[in-house]
Amino acid sequence: MIWAALIRVALGQDHALGLFRRILNFIGKHDRKDDMHDLMLTGISKLPADLRDELIRFIAEPPEVRRALGSLLLFEALPARDSWTAALSDSQPDVELLMAAVGATLWHQSQEATDCRWLRVMGQVVAGRFHIPSDMLKQWCGYPNEGDQREVRPSIRSSEIAPSSFETPDLTWPHAFWDEAWRRTPCLQLRKPKEDVPVEPVLTRGRVRELNDRLRAHWEATHSTTAIDARHDAVFGMAFYALAILDELMGIGVANSILGRLGLRTTLETRINLRFLLQQNDEGLWKKWRAFGAGQAKLTSLKFDETVETPKYIDLESLEQIANEDLWEEFVAINLAGWSGIDLRKMSEKAALKPTYDQYYVWTSGYAHGMWGPIRESCFRTCGNPLHRLHRYPETHSLPDVIGDAVELTDAIIADLDGVFPSFPFRLLENPVVTEKQEAA
Ligand SMILES: [Zn+2]
Repeated sequence: MIWAALIRVALGQDHALGLFRRILNFIGKHDRKDDMHDLMLTGISKLPADLRDELIRFIAEPPEVRRALGSLLLFEALPARDSWTAALSDSQPDVELLMAAVGATLWHQSQEATDCRWLRVMGQVVAGRFHIPSDMLKQWCGYPNEGDQREVRPSIRSSEIAPSSFETPDLTWPHAFWDEAWRRTPCLQLRKPKEDVPVEPVLTRGRVRELNDRLRAHWEATHSTTAIDARHDAVFGMAFYALAILDELMGIGVANSILGRLGLRTTLETRINLRFLLQQNDEGLWKKWRAFGAGQAKLTSLKFDETVETPKYIDLESLEQIANEDLWEEFVAINLAGWSGIDLRKMSEKAALKPTYDQYYVWTSGYAHGMWGPIRESCFRTCGNPLHRLHRYPETHSLPDVIGDAVELTDAIIADLDGVFPSFPFRLLENPVVTEKQEAA
């Protein structure tokens, strides 16, 4: 129906529907109307030669229609090309109009698409191929001003999409159309990437390191024993870990990268683990968390002891040290399940952090696991040429900045630390995050 879409988009709804009615009248009054039930380009091309030429000449009679349809002749595979060429001898192709027509009708429920579908289904009605009740007929004939359009439009669309016969539709022309459009027109960038507006320098790497130094001083001030203090180590360790990730995220370009999203994900997990541990308030659980991590170090170092070659990022000595530092290695149980026995989502529920989990978990997981969505987001763009049906083309580009989110999570981790090892009032953002305890107070 691209011919109808070209007329519709070139001439606007009122004018186009008037021209469509003119064609329907022509068919309705024709003594061979039974044959002309299919107004698609393929259907028209299959008419007996004399009838086909007559219909095409009639369609192309008004000069404004000939101007609108010039682009049809760009296509080598156009059905009944000779008849169209004869009827459109004085037409010029207009690629911009062609793109606009396809763009306006790609979404099959757009007003433009619905108007073209109305023409197609009304062609079946006037040719006597499609019978509808009289009140419906009245509404359809009076389209788009008759009846409640919220009902009429869907009824037209569902009738148009219903198969008019049991024959498989001949898709030779549609396939050829998209193929030629793909080969002969370029990919277009959908929209200009936003100008890189320099973000207000609210946070600098210097500020992150300054906070790190203060936290180290606070660690010393609160460190009361050289015996194993699983809770103190864990709370401070998680805060230092989050700050270290943030510091890395602030390296040039990292916050806009795929790795930036992995950093954000780890900060989220740290945040939930810490809050969960604090909320459970169970001395055994702190030890379990620690032993699980040590168990992983043991598992890893054991693997490389045997036959597997150690990858370059692993420092075997450091792993063995971690596995052995609390207990002799042999006594560290290797727990293959998660450390808490429940998954992160459940932990977030228990820790009253489900909203935070929902905000960050799913999309960063996709990044961590190399799923299609994130691959699509980071390595492809949508082509802005409607003649290419909104396909994707490969292009790596920078992603939205993760620093703001990472700072919020990190400040929340520090606020939790402040809650159990007071007093540490420093935060990355000027407005310190209020902890639940402070709120309660
Ligand atoms: Zn393209």
